Amino acid sequence: MPENNSAGWHDLDVISTAIKRLTTHDVSPTIGADMAMFMMHEKPEITPTSMHGQGPSATNRLNIAEHTGSHVDAPFHTDPSGATIDQVPLEVLLLPRFCKYDLTEYNHQPGDLIGVDHLVAAQERLGFELGQGDVAIIETGWDRFLPGGTDPRDNNWWGRNQPGLSPEACNYLAEAGVVAVASDTGACDLAIRDGHVLAADGHARAFLPRGILIVEGLHNLAEVPATGLFLALPLKIKNGTGSPLRVVLLTE
Ligand SMILES: [Zn+2]
Repeated sequence: MPENNSAGWHDLDVISTAIKRLTTHDVSPTIGADMAMFMMHEKPEITPTSMHGQGPSATNRLNIAEHTGSHVDAPFHTDPSGATIDQVPLEVLLLPRFCKYDLTEYNHQPGDLIGVDHLVAAQERLGFELGQGDVAIIETGWDRFLPGGTDPRDNNWWGRNQPGLSPEACNYLAEAGVVAVASDTGACDLAIRDGHVLAADGHARAFLPRGILIVEGLHNLAEVPATGLFLALPLKIKNGTGSPLRVVLLTE
């Protein structure tokens, strides 16, 4: 390490050492042509443009929706006057605290609404309090329905069916002062049964129009403790409505 020639070096060393001591959880799916997608979006195309043996290097061209795999929705996604993803401050998803609401015991079904009572009961059971600047993560166990999951369905089922958040539950999270709401479903607050959207209060009113980001498509939340730090950086897409994210959760 360089000599301590400024007051900041010691602090940086302490922070770096502390972060390296944390456990990292990769909660993003692999982006591939066969991945499950939310019903509005086409599957990714990954096309080799140069291959070993044909040139000096191997490269691919990606043709993917902004809302592929684990990704963030920018406020502009539903709010014409909201920030596009290149306007969202970098710091928003840079190590805020997260609180994970494990709601798997409720066995929510497609179209069901998660209520404030479910959120409050989870907080009490898990022993955390959601605060200003946090990311709320909603865990429904929905990745069990993906191909390879414990209750696999047809590859298109996951993006056409999911529980959502009631308007009251959206308000509850927004009023706690969260910077983002994340989920292991394809569209967070949207309640969807067989492709029919039955509720969308976070996208339409409570989250995006208030500048609260939405993160969707998280995987493997079952292994992750209830609280920790959230890390993800959106791509700086000009006028982007969202961006794919590699989401890393850091826990003690
Ligand atoms: Zn999205």
